Amino acid sequence: MKAGILGGGQLGRMLLQAAANYTVETFVLENDPSCPAAHLCHHFVQGDITDFDTVYRFGKDLDVLTIEIESVNVDALDKLASEGVRVYPSPAAIRTIKNKITQKAFYAEHQIPTAPFVITQNRAELEQHTGLLPAVHKVGEGGYDGKGVQVIREAGDLTKGFDAPAVLEKMVQIKKEIAMIVAMHANGETTIYPPAEMVFDPVLNLLDYQISPAQLPEQVLWKAEAIALKVVKGLNSPGLFAVELFVDENDEVLVNETAPRVHNSGHHTIEANYSSQYDMLWRILLHYPLGNPDAILSSAIVNILGAEGHSGTAAYENLEEVLKMDNVFVHLYGKLQTKPGRKMGHVTIIHKDISDLTYKANRIKHLLKVVAQ
Ligand code: ADP
Repeated sequence: MKAGILGGGQLGRMLLQAAANYTVETFVLENDPSCPAAHLCHHFVQGDITDFDTVYRFGKDLDVLTIEIESVNVDALDKLASEGVRVYPSPAAIRTIKNKITQKAFYAEHQIPTAPFVITQNRAELEQHTGLLPAVHKVGEGGYDGKGVQVIREAGDLTKGFDAPAVLEKMVQIKKEIAMIVAMHANGETTIYPPAEMVFDPVLNLLDYQISPAQLPEQVLWKAEAIALKVVKGLNSPGLFAVELFVDENDEVLVNETAPRVHNSGHHTIEANYSSQYDMLWRILLHYPLGNPDAILSSAIVNILGAEGHSGTAAYENLEEVLKMDNVFVHLYGKLQTKPGRKMGHVTIIHKDISDLTYKANRIKHLLKVVAQ
């Protein structure tokens, strides 16, 4: 089988690590020839994943295509799928998810619980919706990692909103943010991973660390599983999906957003679950049976981010200290250059005792620093 991945970031890199267990010839399309996935694939093709001709030419001789980022040329994927290339997730599912406006409309249409929202085409329209405040304004396309998201607490903040097509979404009183990874096989079978729980840094509003399985009352877990499954069944596409959910103060579960691909919130599945999210996606792409998503042990993920004030060739402080720790797995993404907040790697910790996980997660966060040489 010849399999192509659009995008060559760390998700592609970890997907390729899992591909090594199967008989598959891998191709990566990406602009940057020194990207994290470039050296792990059989064939690296330099090119723009948003360009129709480039994506079409890349895919036309492949058996199967997948993505590691949503900002791809979906029209080219449509044409490839119509010519018999297996495209998972389906181009239609990518198109729905890629834009936050169509994504929210999809939840509304399928009666999937999500925060109340209105669509705004420009800032003038935004100013007519003071009734929905406090709210969060999210740009339709092009936002990621909190860029493209603006909190609008009161009328005075409206000028901070986007002057572009966007979603204005009522602010949720969040008790917990969780993510559920759901796999769907081409034969319609589905399976679901135990949820991960995000713990945020209140100052930076960045993911601090993540614990899995999330600590949730059983009823909340059941609700979250049912909602995540409903999202994926509604998208009606083979593939692996990460559904990000809010649990509010009344234990209501609301969908925040969905990613039609392997996801940051599933890195721990490499060591902590029987079949990792990456292994699972290969099983789907290659039409093999689904794997077992269950957790072997509890786990935590700490992201390794570029330190503030450091830009340049990356060096890792206290890496050896961290590597000495038991049940700790370091993943560096092979990025040569660091800059403040850049995702340079992650560390997974596994243990049967959650308190040991949070202790080690905090220790690693304070020890391991990415600085410029
Ligand atoms: P991105 O796609 O950039 O990750 P998200 O839509 O996930 O953006 O929003 C980023 C963060 O903003 C979320 O993880 C959450 O903490 C906060 N957020 C988003 N929407 C809401 C909301 N409706 N109410 C409260 N907080 C929100």
